[in-house]
Amino acid sequence: MSQANTPTRGVIATLGYVKKFAGTTVLIKLGGAALQDQKLVVKLCDDLSLIRSVGVSIVLVHGGGPSINHELTLRGINWEFVDGLRITTPQMMDVIEMTLCGNVNRKIVRTLNQSGVPAVGISGTDASTLFCKKQSAKLGQVGEISKVNTAYINAILNTQEKGIGTIPVIAPVGVGKNGEAYNINADWAAVRIAEALGIKKVLFLTDQEGILDLEQKLIQELDAGELENLIETSVVKGGMLAKSRTVLHALRNGVTDVHIFNARRPNGLIEELFTERGVGTVCRLRSRGANISNTPKETLYA
Ligand code: ADP
Ligand code: MG
Repeated sequence: MSQANTPTRGVIATLGYVKKFAGTTVLIKLGGAALQDQKLVVKLCDDLSLIRSVGVSIVLVHGGGPSINHELTLRGINWEFVDGLRITTPQMMDVIEMTLCGNVNRKIVRTLNQSGVPAVGISGTDASTLFCKKQSAKLGQVGEISKVNTAYINAILNTQEKGIGTIPVIAPVGVGKNGEAYNINADWAAVRIAEALGIKKVLFLTDQEGILDLEQKLIQELDAGELENLIETSVVKGGMLAKSRTVLHALRNGVTDVHIFNARRPNGLIEELFTERGVGTVCRLRSRGANISNTPKETLYA
């Protein structure tokens, strides 16, 4: 076995990534589909525990679309999406807030705590973290974030245990100037929080391998221009259209790496952060031109 292929080299590379990310904060957005499967949530929380244990701080933002659909159906309420955003009536808003903040958020926090990770669940209404206005009359109570108040998130991150911070788990419900609740697309909540906190790396865990092209093949790497093109040519639709718009915003506002991959990929988070292989689709402002799935993410040891 040549020295380049010894297991030691893999360990050294991994330690390099650990060194690179220790002391930084990453934002992870958990899509609604993954949250339907509690066994998967347990696995993801175990991975988050490992990531945190090497000194990487984590901010978690979650969706909850399928749970909301279930609750609306139980109440005989119909819904409609426009470009991946749910038209939200005041009656639906109550159900959405109850589901996201009362159920989905609580379950994630309990599971994290069970995995040995201190986590505190909040919604964007706590301490006016996500201050919103109406995005458009047509969308009803869909909120556009006017301001992210980071103080409370930072307070949670700075609540240390053995030198490592607590994980804020954030439900995408915002508050307006009259105290009214807003339904925020979770991807928007994720990127706006990342931007406000100066986070460089955002990971979207979704129900696809990443962004797919017209032939349903995974696109491994995209720059902002290429992503814009996929939006204009309608290759991305529905939820992925909404997500792609948020990715563009993130890349143009200080986030350097956005990763989109399947929450079901075993240990995908660990693989993405601590190995040489990239997973899913990686989006950067300008492409580095490499096939990231097969080549090192960066040359740590030339
Ligand atoms: P999430 O919970 O991750 O936000 P969404 O349902 O909002 O998930 O968005 C993901 C969905 O977007 C996929 O399940 C898929 O149906 C849809 N989609 C549309 N176009 C694409 C594309 N080009 N690549 C991947 N997914 C796409
Ligand atoms: Mg979505």
